[in-house]
Amino acid sequence: MPELIPRADPARDAVVSTALRATSRLDADRGRVLILGGTAEARALARALVEAGLSVVSSLAGRVRDPALPAGEVRVGGFGGVDGLAAWLRDHDVAAVVDATHPFASTMTAHAVDACVATGVPLVVLRRPGWPPEPGWVWADSLPEAAALLPSLGNRVFLTTGRTSLAAFAELDLEFLIRCVDPPAGPMPRQARVLLDRGPFTVDGERELMREYGVDVLVTKDSGGPLTSAKLAAARAEGVPVLVVRRPALPAGVDAVATVEAALEWLRAG
Ligand code: NAP
Repeated sequence: MPELIPRADPARDAVVSTALRATSRLDADRGRVLILGGTAEARALARALVEAGLSVVSSLAGRVRDPALPAGEVRVGGFGGVDGLAAWLRDHDVAAVVDATHPFASTMTAHAVDACVATGVPLVVLRRPGWPPEPGWVWADSLPEAAALLPSLGNRVFLTTGRTSLAAFAELDLEFLIRCVDPPAGPMPRQARVLLDRGPFTVDGERELMREYGVDVLVTKDSGGPLTSAKLAAARAEGVPVLVVRRPALPAGVDAVATVEAALEWLRAG
């Protein structure tokens, strides 16, 4: 079994890469596939694996009150850090892990890497591509950087970065239209209207919303995918500037694929 390498070790990236690829082959008789989920891609992969007759369990963080449930077995809630996940992998006969979490769920991804290195369970990250960048988009490396840039871009903000991101914008004296799936809790901007909704959205609907609220700047994560991309076309059509938060980098040395088909291919490889 590979040794768990501390983060600070400079040799870690190479060891991670070797450890995760060493046995990156799914043997259907050997155990089940664990999908770290919370995305449309994770649900599509679960459906495909169930249809293929493989044993699959999807894991959800449990943040959303009424989540769309994947096919097959589902577990809900955190594992209790790297050690908890490693123990779960051992106890549940897991043959391979697909981290299909949202591109911004970087803690879960880092934990998956460490737990898979510790247990020798192969791991692939399924991460959909970011949106094709458009000329004129302003980029920020983090939510605090986006908050710092925002006052120079507009006054009436359409904020779509998720309810857990609101504290970063709490001190800004701007008007916010905040759209999120579940009601936010914790610090948030004083001047805010909250719209509870989840995609898919249409370009016409997004344009109407922007006009209704007099939106003059859109803030989004570079989430990628079609479910929430209509706001980008709507902003272009309405002449609304777009501020995009860059994705966190993937841990070095990890296998990554961009589509459900490629994840299936990775699992089938033998
Ligand atoms: P995160 O910050 O990377 O993870 C924080 C902790 O939440 C993890 O250490 C883990 O707890 C638990 N966790 C996260 N994803 C989990 C999963 N699929 N199954 C079990 N435990 C999980 O995660 P996040 O950004 O809050 O995202 C939480 C979930 O929402 C993810 O499943 C993600 O796919 C989904 N999501 C996130 C975003 C976003 O913008 N971040 C957007 C849409 C959907 P333990 O340490 O206790 O194991």
